[in-house]
Amino acid sequence: MLPQNHGPVLWALFVLQFLVYPHLAQLHTARVADRERAEMHNLVIDSVLSGAWAAGLGFPLWISVALFLATLLNHAITRGMTGVVICPLAVSAGALASTTVIAFHVSTDTDGLVTLSSIIGLAVYLSLMGIEFFTYIRRLHEVQSAVDHQKNTLEEANAALHEQIFQIHDLQEKLREQANRDSLTGLFNRRYLEGTLERELARCRREGGPLTMLLLDIDYFKLVNDTYGHQAGDEVLRVFGQALQECSRAEDIVCRYGGEEFLLVLPKMPLSIGRERATQLLELFRRTTVPFENLRIPVTTSIGISATPDHSTTAEGLIRCADQALYHAKSRGRNRAVAFGEAAPGD
Ligand code: GH3
Ligand code: MG
Ligand code: MG
Repeated sequence: MLPQNHGPVLWALFVLQFLVYPHLAQLHTARVADRERAEMHNLVIDSVLSGAWAAGLGFPLWISVALFLATLLNHAITRGMTGVVICPLAVSAGALASTTVIAFHVSTDTDGLVTLSSIIGLAVYLSLMGIEFFTYIRRLHEVQSAVDHQKNTLEEANAALHEQIFQIHDLQEKLREQANRDSLTGLFNRRYLEGTLERELARCRREGGPLTMLLLDIDYFKLVNDTYGHQAGDEVLRVFGQALQECSRAEDIVCRYGGEEFLLVLPKMPLSIGRERATQLLELFRRTTVPFENLRIPVTTSIGISATPDHSTTAEGLIRCADQALYHAKSRGRNRAVAFGEAAPGD
């Protein structure tokens, strides 16, 4: 502007544009909610004004080109492809406006002072832009590595949580299993039987298949306790239960029903086969003695048999029938199996 000898109006505009306007723009940006949008607007306004100044003052061609490229770069960095499109439009709009008001003149030669000051100005502008961009990228990297670190921590916490959930499920499963088991023999307990027997009977009704129940009661068990001691009695119960479990099928339910009473639920087994099974068990226990310390304790059992649909179709009814049959087996002299209804009155 100095070599061109411009009047006070243009100088006043120059001061407004480069000393006052940037501060006003910055103040405005700091106050609005959407700062990024405000900064984009400022960039467009800057581009329009740079076009206006370049065309209005008749900047030498190379300075205009360098100024345009610097502005284009700024747009491209901040807005990408949109910036590349918007920048020429904004600069052209500014140039057109000042051309309409003043005149359009392009100068191809520059004097030394203008060239020097332009080079310094452009270099400072581009350097500041580069430094800001560099700082921004570095901050981005820092944020990225902080995010990566947090992601790793979260993934580790997540894995630990999964492991804990797995352990809790495992523990719950074990607790459920324990709640259904008798601690001495490891067989199912009465609690488990109650739920399962109902389910098995419902299946029988649905499929129309039979089901046999054997209620076993060890003979003279009190005598075992009295003769050999309570621990020996426990050992007899354990071995007895184990033997029952070993000779049962996968679908059978073997359960310790009470003190020295055991109950076998034999799904899909008719009464006739159930009887045979009871006879085999009697044989097995006749042959078996329970080793305890240096003793061998003989064990026999009495068995009451009931079956569905022959005797009852309900859990309660079947247990009652098996219990009555067991009573008859005991009263007939023990060490035998009796099916419900087989016992003669007065036995
Ligand atoms: P019966 O031939 O008529 O069945 O006679 P029993 O002696 O086997 O029957 P009784 O009902 O008179 O005695 C059962 C005994 O079983 C009494 C009880 O102390 C004992 N008992 C119950 N539970 C356990 C246990 O967990 N361990 C031991 N060692 N004994 C038990
Ligand atoms: Mg008993
Ligand atoms: Mg008994």
